Amino acid sequence: MKRVSIICAPAVEEHVTALLEEIGAEGQMIVPVRGIDGQNTDDDGEPAETAKLQIEVTLDPDRAEKLLQRIQSDLIAASSAIAAYESDIPEEDPAESHVTTAEEQARLTPDEVLQQFKDGNRRFRSGHITRRNHPEQVRKSAVGQFPKAVVLSCLDSRVPVEDVFDQGIGDVFVARVAGNLVNEDILGSMEFACKAAGAKMILVMGHQHCGAIRGAIDDVQMGNLTSLLAKIKPAVVMSKDFPGEQISSNPLYMRHVARNNVRYALSQIRTRSPILKEMEEKGEIKIVGAFYRLTDGTLEFIE
Ligand SMILES: [Zn+2]
Repeated sequence: MKRVSIICAPAVEEHVTALLEEIGAEGQMIVPVRGIDGQNTDDDGEPAETAKLQIEVTLDPDRAEKLLQRIQSDLIAASSAIAAYESDIPEEDPAESHVTTAEEQARLTPDEVLQQFKDGNRRFRSGHITRRNHPEQVRKSAVGQFPKAVVLSCLDSRVPVEDVFDQGIGDVFVARVAGNLVNEDILGSMEFACKAAGAKMILVMGHQHCGAIRGAIDDVQMGNLTSLLAKIKPAVVMSKDFPGEQISSNPLYMRHVARNNVRYALSQIRTRSPILKEMEEKGEIKIVGAFYRLTDGTLEFIE
């Protein structure tokens, strides 16, 4: 498709409109362009003599060509108060407006959900995330949600969960807490997500350069943060055999503790939630861990 833009004085507008009707160009948009004295309208609200109008029409190449020829022969030849030019409108893929339905959620296996998330992460890393029609997805998802998975992630602003997996509105439950740790409320949320709402996968995602992991290693004491960091300490204990400097300025040690923190969360889910453990044993859900690399958006899966 082509876009033809016509800029003309108000006096010529009537001729342009007649020509557009003759060509069969619809959907014109008339935009007042600021006049040379800065006024677009006079005291009566009519276009000022000095104002210009911009009229844009979208039409197929043949009619765009015909319109430009007619403007040239009928109008531009007779008046300097008009100019016209055409530009290409790129063909775009329609934005995704589909949301996951109950049938799709029921049909998906836990392995398929994991594969979808891996594929989504590949699109995210390569800069080819799905273009989404959010207003349409909001409207469609308002009547009910059938998410495929529940993700437990850190609070960190650099880990945008839906984006990392290229998932849309209604696709994923997200629980976030600094250090992606498991507690009673998180377990209750996961049980709701899987047992009541049909999610097929629990994914616990830790990440590189995690401030909560650093805080636990450095034994930071501050208000309510102290008790939060205490819940990460088991991962520090699990890492006591790490060969190398066990300090928070050692990125390899930080990664090691963060990965153990994910393993600890996975074990907590299985030991503290008989509901989720049973669902996993029956193959109804998958419980997996991952470590997200901030530096390149890659996921390392943790068994
Ligand atoms: Zn973090």
